[in-house]
Amino acid sequence: MSTPLRDLLRPDLRGQTPYGAPQLDVAVALNTNENSYDVPQDVVEAIVASVAQVASGLNRYPDREFARLREDLAVYLTGTTGVALTADQMWAGNGSNEVLLHLLQAFGGPDRVALGFTPAYSMHPIITRTTGTRWVDGGRGVEGAGAFDLDVASAVAQVREHEPDIVFVCSPNNPTGTALGLDVVEAIYAGAPRAIVVVDEAYAEFARPGTPSALTLLKGRGRLVVTRTMSKAFALAGGRLGYLAADAELTEALRLVRLPYHLSAPTQAVACAALEHAGSLLATVELLKTQRDRIVAELAEMGLDPVTSDANFVLFGGLANERVTWQALLDRGILIRDVGLAHYLRVTAGTPQETGAFLDAMRSLAPTHRQE
Ligand code: PMP
Repeated sequence: MSTPLRDLLRPDLRGQTPYGAPQLDVAVALNTNENSYDVPQDVVEAIVASVAQVASGLNRYPDREFARLREDLAVYLTGTTGVALTADQMWAGNGSNEVLLHLLQAFGGPDRVALGFTPAYSMHPIITRTTGTRWVDGGRGVEGAGAFDLDVASAVAQVREHEPDIVFVCSPNNPTGTALGLDVVEAIYAGAPRAIVVVDEAYAEFARPGTPSALTLLKGRGRLVVTRTMSKAFALAGGRLGYLAADAELTEALRLVRLPYHLSAPTQAVACAALEHAGSLLATVELLKTQRDRIVAELAEMGLDPVTSDANFVLFGGLANERVTWQALLDRGILIRDVGLAHYLRVTAGTPQETGAFLDAMRSLAPTHRQE
């Protein structure tokens, strides 16, 4: 008799649940913080032309070092943030999830510890554990419902206590939408002298004016990493392109763990074409920010408890039972996200029509679904 598969699985993976945001066929999908706007036609044409150019060469492996893409990413970040960055400081993967995996493969592993301050991005602990790294669930050090800041003194005390090899912070934070002050990043970096400090800035382009990027802290900080993605503001979630900026010595180390040719030629071609048309793709950012702020204002008027957001989504509380509300919205064809926080749900800002459909449904549900 052969051994059941469940007994062959790595013991630390037994009983774990995979990432599983529902992918349902609904009229209004506002659950995974995608950009609701289709890729504009001029960019579609540029992408098709760019892929067509590499198609006849698909018999060969792609550029393993994705040199042009690294160059284009550096130009984009330098142009939008004013921080001078070079191609050798850039690294990319199939989504920023893969970039996070590379970081953990290189700097985590058995006998190593990663620390994050929850509630934060749910994949940080999942990716951490797939590499055999121990995950420490840190708190945010603030009390009270709706208090989702990260307290500096508490964060520093936690990094001193756990002496992590990797620290994750997320700004603007998913699922709360709140951006971090750079003082917190500086203090964590100084307080954890052996740690790679990862600032996940997947939603940076949606931050309100004056919100600083941790990219401005990179110079002179060889252990600091800022991750970004083209899945959100760039409306390219299906293209799977995430990236990071760090010291060139750190990106060099990631070459040890990536699989050869991990970025396909079409992936590189799509991302380069999209970056060439960044202006056109990013034009939706302001529209989405307007809808985000509309969600905050209107949910507050309904007597609910929205958290002010620097991202393309809003976390809101004040619900008697979030699961019941989630299902009631789904019954009306509106899919949002239950992030596992009691009394809270998270909704992505969509087009004015999608956002309106969500708000209309909430307005009719609020009187009976509010927490008393
Ligand atoms: N970081 C954060 C905070 C996210 O919310 C997400 C996607 N939901 C990611 C990273 C990963 O996105 P991707 O792999 O599409 O780049």
